[in-house]
Amino acid sequence: MTSTSDTTRIVVIGGSYGGVACVNQLMHSLPKSSKVAIILIESRDARHHCIATYRALVQEEFVKNLWIPYTHLFPEDSPHKVVRGTVQHVFNDHVLLSSDEIPSLSDITLSQGSVDSKTDPRRVDFDYLVIATGSMVPSPAKMKVKSSAEGLSVLKRTREDIKQSERIVIVGGGACGVEMAGEIKYAFPSKTVTLIHASSDLVDYPGFPKSFKNQTRHYLEKQGVDVILNETAEIPGLSREYSVQRAERTITLKKSGRTIESDLQILSIGMEVDTTILSTLRPPSQDDPDKATTTRFDFKTLLDPKSKAVLVKSTLQLKNDAFPNIFAIGDVSKADPVPTCMSAISSGQTCARNIVKLIHKAERSRVRRGSEAEDNSQRDSEDEIDGYLCRSWTKLEDYVPIRPLMVLAMNPLGGVCHLPVLGSWFGGVAAWLVKSGDLMSGRFWREMNMPRP
Ligand SMILES: Cc1cc2nc3c(=O)[nH]c(=O)nc-3n(C[C@H](O)[C@H](O)[C@H](O)COP(=O)(O)OP(=O)(O)OC[C@H]3O[C@@H](n4cnc5c(N)ncnc54)[C@H](O)[C@@H]3O)c2cc1C
Repeated sequence: MTSTSDTTRIVVIGGSYGGVACVNQLMHSLPKSSKVAIILIESRDARHHCIATYRALVQEEFVKNLWIPYTHLFPEDSPHKVVRGTVQHVFNDHVLLSSDEIPSLSDITLSQGSVDSKTDPRRVDFDYLVIATGSMVPSPAKMKVKSSAEGLSVLKRTREDIKQSERIVIVGGGACGVEMAGEIKYAFPSKTVTLIHASSDLVDYPGFPKSFKNQTRHYLEKQGVDVILNETAEIPGLSREYSVQRAERTITLKKSGRTIESDLQILSIGMEVDTTILSTLRPPSQDDPDKATTTRFDFKTLLDPKSKAVLVKSTLQLKNDAFPNIFAIGDVSKADPVPTCMSAISSGQTCARNIVKLIHKAERSRVRRGSEAEDNSQRDSEDEIDGYLCRSWTKLEDYVPIRPLMVLAMNPLGGVCHLPVLGSWFGGVAAWLVKSGDLMSGRFWREMNMPRP
């Protein structure tokens, strides 16, 4: 964990709900005098506020809320910067960006200077690393695009597909499928919208009561969506990569044999994470901590075998003592049973506070090592103070997973919601208050220090 300069470098990969919450908490918790530089590495030129996608899909004027520039994330005079680039490989003390995206000065928003690279311009060194690379769900909810312009054109194409279709079939009744079905039916009441879901309940996530799942189904049915549970349908060519297809089709349900006429099919199945950037990670060598060990190390031991999400300790550090300086938060981590933006934010904040504690601890030991004039009795009394500090300052915080909370916005006026204390009661009103109106756009534009467009 050595720093080449006297500045401590915190690299955060991914500038979305988790990454930005972490960065903001770091800026809040670090003393102004601290010599720390935060480097946020993000593949895209703007932050995709994916929660607002389905409204933007059916209401053209809402699109302006969807991509939030990073321009004002950091104060102009700060040492922090946003680097546009895609991390391809993670090592124990640096990351490597993809070679076709070597950051140029114009890509580095805000503060002056270039990415510190020993000789390789793709290399970004760190003392602490936060992996906040999130998850993918099929387009248009999250899009595999390199820029906001590309994202806007994907959305425009899908909006046209919806406008021109009359019989829309959505496969997958998780939170995304449910919200998409509701928004489309509300905006285009004359179109038929059918939602096909494989299990016996919509939004069938662990920890949520049956009453919430039932309310969700009733709400959609009241809106006029045809909800089909316990069924699957094989639609040729429909896949995660090609998740929106405009084709005249007769779809046959597997169990009942029922047929549905459709001219637009959309796949909305669960999230997946890509953690292959960790394949190059090796523990530091015992002899020289600046070098990685040459002995064999299987990075897959850091991953959940089923979901491939990163296994973390309660402190959000990787679940392997060799990497106390590397954290994983949000959808890419296994910190929460049901990953949501709220858990990404909360884990980002906890992770930031823990990094600040580690920096504080490292600074104190540096100062102590440097003070040669100190006599032993003084050292003893400082140890006592340190003992106290150990409990209050240097003991890392345990992340407490968020209690089951979900707000489903099915149209601009409401939806269904499950809150930790109130449960699903007042769901419609709460959904409208918390989310449905602007889909939290105001909150996240404010968080990025940007005026709402
Ligand atoms: C339509 C929709 C509605 C939702 N509604 C809600 C809701 O109401 N409430 C709620 O709590 N949750 C909601 N969610 C879930 C929520 O959006 C996710 O839990 C959240 O996006 C997770 O945030 P994250 O920061 O972990 O990752 P992500 O939002 O997935 O962001 C990851 C970021 O990392 C970047 N990145 C990835 N790999 C690299 C790399 N190698 N190098 C550089 N950058 C990289 C990506 O470009 C992206 O910006 C919704 C999701 C969708 C799709």
